[in-house]
Amino acid sequence: MKRRLTEIAQQRVADVLLPGDCAIDATAGNGHDTEFLSRTVGADGRVFAFDIQSEAVAATKTRLAKSGLRNVDLFQESHADLESLLPHDADGHVATVMFNLGYLPGGDHAVVTETQSTLAAINAALRILRSGGVLTIVAYPGHARGDSEATSVGQHLERLAPVACSVERIDGQSGRNASPILFVVTKRESGLLE
Ligand code: SAM
Repeated sequence: MKRRLTEIAQQRVADVLLPGDCAIDATAGNGHDTEFLSRTVGADGRVFAFDIQSEAVAATKTRLAKSGLRNVDLFQESHADLESLLPHDADGHVATVMFNLGYLPGGDHAVVTETQSTLAAINAALRILRSGGVLTIVAYPGHARGDSEATSVGQHLERLAPVACSVERIDGQSGRNASPILFVVTKRESGLLE
């Protein structure tokens, strides 16, 4: 059976993320990736998680509390503002940033990630990542508005790639809809962005 792109994203992150590291979940949702990051960095590490919806923040908080995980700072804020919300000493030391775009499963499908803030957040994530750090983005062309967002993300990463990062694209499978896409982005040694 083919693995889900969200599982592949976690595997790619697990390849670079170490206990004690700093990691970001840019779209906390129901908290699956936040929990994964929290467990992987352990008690000596730190996770920062963002979501604009109170339902998502509450769901993530509950998930973490059930597992006794206390190394997460959770913000009900847009990921576009992540740089201003992170402590200054995290700048350039973040090992990974995970994005899972689209809507909150089980929530309001009208609230989705938006291209403009997604691209701003990707730029911010690349600035605060350490060299060799990994950014994962799962995009969903099959849902309303997700198609243009996925296209814009792909084109944006293509433009950034020569100076800032290497980009791998993995296409998933889905029933009737366009397949989801996973972008795995690794920051270059000299991958500095303005
Ligand atoms: N990774 C999550 C999980 O493990 O359950 C699923 C994320 S869900 C597909 C996408 C989430 O992005 C939604 O919960 C939505 O509220 C959130 N979102 C939308 N716009 C956002 C923004 N500008 N900043 C942060 N989160 C946003």
